[in-house]
Amino acid sequence: MKANQIAVGSAVCVGCARCSEVCPAQIDIPAVLKICEQHPADALACAEKLRSMDSKGTPMDCIECGACSAHCPQKIDVKEIMRRMAMLEYQSFRSA
Ligand code: SF4
Ligand code: SF4
Repeated sequence: MKANQIAVGSAVCVGCARCSEVCPAQIDIPAVLKICEQHPADALACAEKLRSMDSKGTPMDCIECGACSAHCPQKIDVKEIMRRMAMLEYQSFRSA
């Protein structure tokens, strides 16, 4: 796998950022996917990284418009991933 590629389940994110370019919540989506990849089984570590992301928007800002999923050339269901990451971020936020 190339340096800018991110494993997302059985799919591969190529880091093109088309999803972020159309995201009204200005979420750095490749950065979120990278965090998911780095902490696949550690929800706490994943949530802590999400909270400290250097991104204008974070998963909790997602309005579930689906533009990211519609524009992904790899057919990754980004919206669903954002929904799960938002839940983790919210839980982390509540327990902080
Ligand atoms: S579904 Fe969420 S993450 Fe995807 S483009 Fe819309 S606001 Fe952004
Ligand atoms: S549009 Fe798809 S392939 Fe491109 S960065 Fe976003 S999730 Fe990855």
